[in-house]
Amino acid sequence: MKPNQEKKNIVILGGGYAGVRAALDLNNYLHDSSEYEIILIDRQDYQTYYSGLYEAAATEHALVDAKKVKRTVAIPFTEIFSKTRVKVFKAFIDRIDIAEGKVITDSRIMPFDYLVVAMGSVADFYGIPNLDKYGFTLKSLEDAIMIRNRVEELVVKKDSGQIIIGGGGFAGAEFAGELHNLLKHECQQHQKDPNNFKILVVEGGSNFLPGLSDKVSAIISHRTAQMGIEAKFSTLITEAGSGYVILNLKDRMECDLLIWTGGVKSCRLPVLINLERDKKDRTLVEPVLNLKNYPQVFVIGDNACVTDPKTKKATAQTAQEAINQAKYTAKNIYRSITQKPLLPYHAGPVRFIIPVTGKYAVFYTPNLIIAGLAGWVVRKLADLRYFSSILPIFTALKFWLFENKIFMKND
Ligand SMILES: Cc1cc2nc3c(=O)[nH]c(=O)nc-3n(C[C@H](O)[C@H](O)[C@H](O)COP(=O)(O)OP(=O)(O)OC[C@H]3O[C@@H](n4cnc5c(N)ncnc54)[C@H](O)[C@@H]3O)c2cc1C
Repeated sequence: MKPNQEKKNIVILGGGYAGVRAALDLNNYLHDSSEYEIILIDRQDYQTYYSGLYEAAATEHALVDAKKVKRTVAIPFTEIFSKTRVKVFKAFIDRIDIAEGKVITDSRIMPFDYLVVAMGSVADFYGIPNLDKYGFTLKSLEDAIMIRNRVEELVVKKDSGQIIIGGGGFAGAEFAGELHNLLKHECQQHQKDPNNFKILVVEGGSNFLPGLSDKVSAIISHRTAQMGIEAKFSTLITEAGSGYVILNLKDRMECDLLIWTGGVKSCRLPVLINLERDKKDRTLVEPVLNLKNYPQVFVIGDNACVTDPKTKKATAQTAQEAINQAKYTAKNIYRSITQKPLLPYHAGPVRFIIPVTGKYAVFYTPNLIIAGLAGWVVRKLADLRYFSSILPIFTALKFWLFENKIFMKND
């Protein structure tokens, strides 16, 4: 793929929730303009559907091969952009020379007139000694496949064991439930007693999902306890080692597998200038989501520290926020091109769905909580809604049905 040097380039870095939405919306806004190229760069040739990763990591080896696991959470860019003029460039982004207006990748230098930075986040280990070395994270398709392999290996090699999940937030709560089922299935497959394999969630706060809603925390506590998942609250992992963790600086606990779901921070942007960042390494942006001194550069999604004008707090690192910010950004780039004033960002409504294995999920809004099968149905519809927002409808339906077919084997 060669960028056309005669044209102006809108370059989007990262094809995650934010990057894909920005590219699709820009394609719509600029459909009859031949002046601009829309170029998306990602190191992968697909978008990772993160919301499906917990289930992907819990698929049973004997039933689902790695290729099929990939098809559940990897949405190819060729499918997403098939009916658009967005050009996708697979490359690793090494550096961004904002002042010179260039992105340097491992295979070419790409000049830009507008830049959208949406490169996502990485696990935050908070400087806890050896956690990065011994803790598995769940941030990619490869992580998901690695975790399910390790779980199978554990059951094959041993008659008993303990898996520790560090962090009882959204990720920890959701993954604990899925892991419970995976262990059950692997034990059946290898004729082991599932009661001898324990899952322990270690959480620094006083319950699951601290700070969201006491009612939701209680529902999730009850649901996980029913499955025999243990939890230690107000407890910190302060060190990790081979086969053990240290809790609260003093208590050693053996563990066969450590999965770290304790938090994320923005990836360190490879920019050649100093930008102001918050403690999650997110770049501080203007109310219209661009950089103060470089108004043609927009930073969004998990990379951006955006202050919501209503709550005066930084918006959450979620897919919904990333998508919402991408919509504003595409609109603002179009407004800038058409010389209209840019619109300040307003965060979207607060809504969460937390599946806790099987046909069960908790749907949360500040005014409404639905738990159980109805929550699960909401979640499935949300998945379909997302797929159909980025794919042609029949492709979206095909993807959704395939995902459901595979993930229902986990129940
Ligand atoms: C397991 C998991 C489950 C989640 N579940 C939910 C959920 O149910 N609901 C919800 O709202 N949020 C969820 N989240 C959070 C949500 O996924 C993120 O907030 C969201 O992905 C942020 O979108 P983004 O576009 O900023 O980054 P991402 O979606 O992470 O996209 C970043 C892209 O940049 C690319 N990239 C990064 N560095 C480079 C480089 N150097 N060169 C080339 N390409 C690069 C990556 O390949 C990736 O495609 C979940 C996160 C995880 C990890």
